[in-house]
Amino acid sequence: MSAPVGPREEQSYLLVLISGLATTALTLVGVYVLDANTDFHIMGWYANYILPIGAVIVGVAASSGYGLASWFSGIKITRSLLWIVLVLQLAAYFATQYIGFKSLHLVHRKNGTPVGFVEYFDATARSFAWKQDNGSAGAPLGVWGYAFRGLEIIGFAAGGLIVPALLRKKPYCQACQRYMRIRQLGLVPTSVPVKKVKKSDAVGLAAYEAEQQQAFDRGKQTVEALQQHAAGAKVADFQKILAELSPGKKQTAKLPGRFSLQLVHCNRCYASQFVVKQLLGQGKHLKQTDFSSTELHSEFARSVCQ
Ligand SMILES: [Zn+2]
Repeated sequence: MSAPVGPREEQSYLLVLISGLATTALTLVGVYVLDANTDFHIMGWYANYILPIGAVIVGVAASSGYGLASWFSGIKITRSLLWIVLVLQLAAYFATQYIGFKSLHLVHRKNGTPVGFVEYFDATARSFAWKQDNGSAGAPLGVWGYAFRGLEIIGFAAGGLIVPALLRKKPYCQACQRYMRIRQLGLVPTSVPVKKVKKSDAVGLAAYEAEQQQAFDRGKQTVEALQQHAAGAKVADFQKILAELSPGKKQTAKLPGRFSLQLVHCNRCYASQFVVKQLLGQGKHLKQTDFSSTELHSEFARSVCQ
């Protein structure tokens, strides 16, 4: 006898799996059509000769159905589901190779006997060649072609795990079986604007550092006040601070240091947390760390959301 939760989970899994397999089939058919009819061989795209970018892109597209179905149905991506996705991606890869092989109806030139799949796979792997700058194909890589075949398979399979793995990290309401929503509440400055101070200017540097420290302390105080109001369910006081922060938001976003305030909530039962993240730097150099998380009363979250 299986546990009562077993059959239900299997059933819910099924929706995610069917959606994922559907997008996998569509994607691979698309790649096949492009390969056969155009000069667009996406699976062969590499960055720096070893990063199988094309295979990763195809893998992400193929697996998009797993992520979409999970997000919209609220079926959580579990560890075992990730393994199933990995196995299905590998199966899909080889199935595509096999279908491509079958459609060629290959026979040996000397005696007309049919070519086997393993033989075909071996020959295509060994014939891997880089396209040269003049557009013609370079010399086949031989046994090294397997290395690129391997990278392609890894890229496709791993690409397929990116979206489901990201979803697995999303906050989730176990009681309602759905993903939680993240509402941005505002930004709090934790630094002063960047200022150029000469290294030789010891006094100037010390003053700048003191300014930074003060700005951080002020930011921390603001967050602590918000946390107190949140914990005490004082909606008006909480909203008042947010309203005060709001006009300076654009300015704050440009600072090297700031807190990002978030309300993470289930939009059914309003189970929720007040989450503060510390942001340092900008753009490519942005670093984000968890600063604090406060459990909220569902009534409080409900009124903040309205
Ligand atoms: Zn809920």
